[in-house]
Amino acid sequence: MPEDALAANVWCATVLTLFPEMFPGPLGFSLAGKALEMGVWRLETVDIRAFARDKHRSVDAAPAGGGAGMVLRPDVLAAAIDDVRARETLLRPRRPLICLSPRGAPLRQKRVRALRSEPGVVLICGRFEGIDERLLQTRGVEEVSLGDFVLSGGEPAALALLDAVVRMLPGVTGNPGALEEESFEQGLLEYPHYTKPGEWEGMVTPPVLLSGNHAQIRAWRKARSEEITQRRRPDLWRRYVAGTEENE
Ligand code: SAH
Repeated sequence: MPEDALAANVWCATVLTLFPEMFPGPLGFSLAGKALEMGVWRLETVDIRAFARDKHRSVDAAPAGGGAGMVLRPDVLAAAIDDVRARETLLRPRRPLICLSPRGAPLRQKRVRALRSEPGVVLICGRFEGIDERLLQTRGVEEVSLGDFVLSGGEPAALALLDAVVRMLPGVTGNPGALEEESFEQGLLEYPHYTKPGEWEGMVTPPVLLSGNHAQIRAWRKARSEEITQRRRPDLWRRYVAGTEENE
């Protein structure tokens, strides 16, 4: 992690990957890209292969017990992680160490909010069949999943996680009020949006939204949010009705 970013208290992401060229990728555009350029957050990539020690610079090996594919070696990854940690000794608390993995806890907005309050995050992008279990245990790695599907590598998941956190950093999203109204923030999915033109393909904007009556608009939006959540996400709805937070 760059020392100056540490000193400046800038939210700093370090990504361990076999494909550093994939970063910042989409995060170099729009709000996240502008914020990156302005130094609101920092992004460091670490090429896992740089820590390979044998003459072939190999990072993976066949799975013990047989089976398809290859597994990322614990010794190579550990060397990469330990190097990152050695460069952040002054940082308290240490940044969470997260491996993107379909076996992890599904990423939810609550975790995103918590990560925003950390000094940053260290992400490990898996490839092949995954990572040697001993590495996950010895280095205290938290496993986080993007959802119940399988990607070919952790990089798109890392980009998605970073996008979700960075847009919540102070000064990144133009209108911070917009963040509070969004899906999941109140335990509900968001209400539907309408814009100009008022009539389009025979469909009109709901008149209440043009009424200028803010109390009525708020009530209409809340009712739509509840309706949509109940219909599309019975799991969220149950938690909402029970009064527990959606992301627990
Ligand atoms: N054999 C593994 C899948 C490996 S996919 C299994 O069955 O669980 C290769 C890599 O892609 C993983 O190590 C992980 O880093 C990443 N990946 C795949 N799906 C993901 C998901 N849903 N969320 C986050 N990362 C994922």
